[in-house]
Amino acid sequence: MKIEDNEFFEIKKSNISGFGLFSKVCFEIGDVVLKWNLNNEIKKEDIKDFSKITKIGEKYYEFCFPEGFVNHSCIPNVKNIGTNEIAIKKINIGDEILTDYSCDESLGGEMICNCQSKNCKKIINL
Ligand SMILES: [Zn+2]
Repeated sequence: MKIEDNEFFEIKKSNISGFGLFSKVCFEIGDVVLKWNLNNEIKKEDIKDFSKITKIGEKYYEFCFPEGFVNHSCIPNVKNIGTNEIAIKKINIGDEILTDYSCDESLGGEMICNCQSKNCKKIINL
């Protein structure tokens, strides 16, 4: 994935995992923070990292910037509704955008969560 930024987001080192997506603007609860770009269809047998994939109908799509950099947290600040990520907390400038990957229909992968929250689910089905 190419590292990029735009007027809303930048990629920085994350305390949770590798690099994360950080906001350059404020979002209020209910705001659409991200819309998924579904231009990158991928075959199931070519998938290497299930955390960067979504399945819609029978088709698989690989995320790119910015949504592909959103890390998982068990205390997320955005929620996936359809192909949008909606703010469920106020997001301030500099906050990392975090979603709950396990809300999605399981694709068969799993990951260990490192969000450090009290109610961490530890194993996340992807
Ligand atoms: Zn967690």
